[in-house]
Amino acid sequence: MGQNNLLRIVVIITIILLSVYILVPSLPFFMRSYSYKCFQSVVKAYLNYQTREFNVLKSENFIIKYTDLDKEIISFTADVIEDHYQSAKTQLSYYPEDEKILVVIYPNQEELNGSFGWEGDKSASGAYWAGSIRLLSPYGWDEDVKEERIIQETLIKVLPISHELSHRLIDVWTQGNYTRWLTEGLAQHIEEKVVGFRLDEPFPKDKETLYSLKNLDRDFDRQENQLLAYWQSLQTVQFLIDKYGMDKMQELLSVLSKGIKTNYAIEQVYGLNINELESKTQEYIQRELLP
Ligand SMILES: [Zn+2]
Repeated sequence: MGQNNLLRIVVIITIILLSVYILVPSLPFFMRSYSYKCFQSVVKAYLNYQTREFNVLKSENFIIKYTDLDKEIISFTADVIEDHYQSAKTQLSYYPEDEKILVVIYPNQEELNGSFGWEGDKSASGAYWAGSIRLLSPYGWDEDVKEERIIQETLIKVLPISHELSHRLIDVWTQGNYTRWLTEGLAQHIEEKVVGFRLDEPFPKDKETLYSLKNLDRDFDRQENQLLAYWQSLQTVQFLIDKYGMDKMQELLSVLSKGIKTNYAIEQVYGLNINELESKTQEYIQRELLP
């Protein structure tokens, strides 16, 4: 079968499955989550096909695809991915029986962006999408770095490995039923716990006007100040964990896994409607910002 025909079939199947998932919210949750899982399998198969020239390393929980550039460091890379996966599971106290997760390591930014069809200067060093993880090679992150110690440090601390793995765990736990600010906030929280990494903060004056949580759902990527969007997501999750504990966060994920919409799930677990959550987070931020 020619690549164009295959691509066409993949696109059609994907559109059908995604349409069922997004456009038919009235379907029973098990049908929605089944179509979501099928959609992920199609994307995984296509990503596998796209990277058919890559080398493959299978570890306990992952299928890692990489180019010759990473040959020397791939076994260390696999160890870091496995370690971070265990740590992220421990942070969430969630240990799913999962299939091997596909991780593709791209040699440079251009190829990582190209795999999504992104153009221009979008500079993500990793991404979780539809069940699979895409990462930038440490050599692609900083072309001048050749020293072993720095490459190892980049893998352990700089690349968002625990962050993307947290997205995967949250996705599996909730069967795809989560809002974007929740997964971004929780992934940052776990990443900080696991490797101590924290994104740069927005300017103080930018923190004065927050986004509505509704805007940080499906329109997350369209918000102009991405640093603020990530920071505010982290603050919202941090507020919930500081005030109510990690047990409640786990309860929230379990309630979501039954297909209950985020706003209702939050109300059920925390007794807060979304407006109250917004204003309480605002108070929390103000308290934290005081000297
Ligand atoms: Zn993220």
